[in-house]
Amino acid sequence: KAKRAGKDKLRVFGSRMHEQALHAMRLENDLRQAIDNGDLSCHYQPIVNLESGALEGFEALARWQHPTLGNIPPSTFIPIAEDTGRIIPLGRAMLHKACAFAASIRGTLPQGDPVIHVNLSPRQFLSRQRLREVEAALDATGLPPELLVLEITESLLMENPRVAKSIMAGLKEIGVRLSLDDFGTGYSSLGSLQDYPLDSVKIDRSFIRAMNDGRDAEHIVRAILKLVSHLRLEAICEGVETTMQAANLMAFGATRMQGFLFAKPMPSEKARSLLERLALGERFTLTGMGS
Ligand code: C2E
Ligand code: MG
Ligand code: MG
Ligand code: MG
Repeated sequence: KAKRAGKDKLRVFGSRMHEQALHAMRLENDLRQAIDNGDLSCHYQPIVNLESGALEGFEALARWQHPTLGNIPPSTFIPIAEDTGRIIPLGRAMLHKACAFAASIRGTLPQGDPVIHVNLSPRQFLSRQRLREVEAALDATGLPPELLVLEITESLLMENPRVAKSIMAGLKEIGVRLSLDDFGTGYSSLGSLQDYPLDSVKIDRSFIRAMNDGRDAEHIVRAILKLVSHLRLEAICEGVETTMQAANLMAFGATRMQGFLFAKPMPSEKARSLLERLALGERFTLTGMGS
């Protein structure tokens, strides 16, 4: 009898968990298929230079349009891909797509060719094999290495500083640039930045958002910008949504920004028409885009 009661309890408890587990398994399965079929796409978000009004580059962001569930955000599928090892083929495909896109838009802007930023997961990064994949993507697409910027995160530097340093050195030898993503959200000390061969730092959008709330956050952003420039690194401010934020950042000496104020991530065709407008003389300004 006790056994029977236990079973019923399990069933009641179990149904929701069972459903969630099924859902997770289905997503995992569908993601594997989407990656294998090349169904993931790549959107591009402008990174702008407000001093010149020019486009610095684009960040490549993975997109998954599920056939029945609709758009599934990277915050859902990237962790699944990381846990299941599918981040390796996913990352490889993104790298190829992004490099091919960047190679195809060379020569469209008189101010110079935009760079392409590609996100690397820690797991994807911590292996020598990945160095060869970066070279393969550059070779296959003909993109000059200096137009590729690889974005890595602080957790990577924390987990295995020695391996991270040596792979970063290998990437610098290839000639690509390195950027530290989501800066300020991890645990690395500001000072440890100088131990790595970085070219730029992306200041996380939580700091930019917090600037709305008052002076304290402003002081923090100013301090970060000061340190970053002291280390001769470029700063890119993420998640700039308002003219007020952009104006404040400019006043603090930051000129490189990315955010909905300027443009949302967009498919490649839309990015190409944006390039056409820029080639005709349009500029990025404190209010978005204009002539
Ligand atoms: P991230 O690398 O920090 O990318 C920036 C995220 O901020 C993107 O979210 C972008 O759409 C969003 N964003 C840009 N401007 C604004 C703004 O003004 N306001 C707000 N609220 N958000 C803004 P998304 O595309 O959802 O990507 C989320 C994260 O998923 C990325 O954060 C990155 O860590 C990861 N991710 C995306 N694609 C890839 C990929 O191909 N490989 C890897 N390993 N990770 C990826
Ligand atoms: Mg990024
Ligand atoms: Mg970021
Ligand atoms: Mg971020």
